[in-house]
Amino acid sequence: MSDDYDVVVVGAGPAGYPAAIRAGQNKLKVACVDEWQNTDGSYAFGGTCLNAGCIPSKALLESSELFQRAKDEFATHGIKVGEVTLDLGAMQKRRASVVKTMTNGINALFKANGVVGIQGHGKLLPGNKVLVKAADGTEKTLEAKNVILASGSTPIRLRSVPHDGKFIVDSWNALEFDTVPKRLGVIGAGVIGLELGSVWRRLGSDVVVLEALEQFLPMVDQTIAKEAQRHFKRQGLDIKLGAKVLSAAVSGNAVDVTYSDAQGEHSLQVDKLVVAVGRRPFTEGLLAEGTGVQLDERGFIKVDEHCGTSVPNVWAIGDVVRGPMLAHKGKEEGVMVADLIAGHYGEVNYKVIPSVIYTQPEIAWVGQTEEQVKASGRPYKTGSFPFAASGRARAMEAGAGMAKIVSAKDDDEVLGIHVIGPMAGELIAEAVLAMEYSASTEDIQRTIHAHPTLSEAIHEAALAVDKKAIDSINR
Ligand code: FAD
Ligand code: AMP
Repeated sequence: MSDDYDVVVVGAGPAGYPAAIRAGQNKLKVACVDEWQNTDGSYAFGGTCLNAGCIPSKALLESSELFQRAKDEFATHGIKVGEVTLDLGAMQKRRASVVKTMTNGINALFKANGVVGIQGHGKLLPGNKVLVKAADGTEKTLEAKNVILASGSTPIRLRSVPHDGKFIVDSWNALEFDTVPKRLGVIGAGVIGLELGSVWRRLGSDVVVLEALEQFLPMVDQTIAKEAQRHFKRQGLDIKLGAKVLSAAVSGNAVDVTYSDAQGEHSLQVDKLVVAVGRRPFTEGLLAEGTGVQLDERGFIKVDEHCGTSVPNVWAIGDVVRGPMLAHKGKEEGVMVADLIAGHYGEVNYKVIPSVIYTQPEIAWVGQTEEQVKASGRPYKTGSFPFAASGRARAMEAGAGMAKIVSAKDDDEVLGIHVIGPMAGELIAEAVLAMEYSASTEDIQRTIHAHPTLSEAIHEAALAVDKKAIDSINR
């Protein structure tokens, strides 16, 4: 096969591989280059999300939740089991096997859609060429009518907290611990810090989360954030707000951490310390001199609303460009760009991107928080419904949390839907669809929801917006 392509994608994470697949579906000649290498030296497509992010974290969240429920909840259901014990080796083996199944799936999808998958490093050269250094060391230059850069992101490291991969670790290392740390420190109470803290707490660690900000989950509707904070506290997650980590150093088999808060300086000793203070765009070794591709002041590749860079026919998508660092956001950008290249219609509705935190209870939202709507000055109304009043949630022994809707007072448009509770990440799909179709609150009120289901909480929250809830008292 010649080395001329219609499209070369650099990066096969959840942004890059869907772009390549859609390009193949659009009958374009496409190659996708990816350099991801696992800790055992194997190469795999799928990027951070499949190998070290979304998928392994959800595998462990599921296993650890089952472990904790078997210990604490089965008796409530009248199920007697013997002593519940942990086989972390088996749990980690399952996690690895879930990941492998998913990453192998990409090879099959590439084949079925005519995508040439190349394992190796890609570097954009001037003139829309990509220099590929393959895993076996061979080099070749691919000519491309279009290049899509999807090189993703990498964890932010703190200079005063030197990473060693063993005691002071990042989120990837923290997914692969082979023993349960007795004392676990987590820096950052963001999505990743809370998910990892939850996994290891359920498996038995004493977890302290140090968060520099005074406010808990500032991006989340504060009614929901406050409810979440209560539950996490009850679960034994020690979340210290306003606690800025100053330094950490390995000492023997432990880590000494210092942090400051309003009361002054403190020290803390843990067995492992996870740094989860966010991620930064990854562009190391991606752009040769003179390509003309511009980065912004934070290192993201500059793009327009259609993900075009400053160079014609060079596009960039996913975590390496502005916007939320979420797999599904990158996927939609990849599909949009591959469609635009083929001359089709393509657009991403950045106003309607769902977010999910896979803790227990789960947290999910789409659109604006009440605080954001208030700040915008638009008159609004809200309604909420507690899962405690949901028959299905009660039957599941999962009555914690609520669904909340924020709507415009003037034309009844739904502005934001916020859920904390069982399967919130699944329930939010209805909210996303409603907002994608610019639903009014009345549209949701008039939509029949099956009984008894968790989704009735969204229906009842919509009714509550106009004080018409049936299954809870309207306030
Ligand atoms: P990446 O997934 O980072 O993929 C980029 C790929 O490009 C990598 O394989 C990289 O090796 C490769 N690459 C980079 N440079 C080159 C080069 N020059 N040549 C060849 N290859 C290159 N998001 C969610 O939506 N839901 C979740 O539940 C979720 N959970 C997460 C949990 C954790 C612990 C972490 C760390 C992240 C999580 N995320 C989640 C975020 C999600 O993983 C990212 O938003 C997503 O992976 C970004 O996709 P991407 O394709 O832009 O980049
Ligand atoms: P996210 O960007 O959602 O992954 O969250 C990362 C969190 O880490 C943010 O809430 C930051 O405030 C927090 N953070 C960053 N640096 C520090 C630090 N030195 N000490 C404690 N928390 C920090």
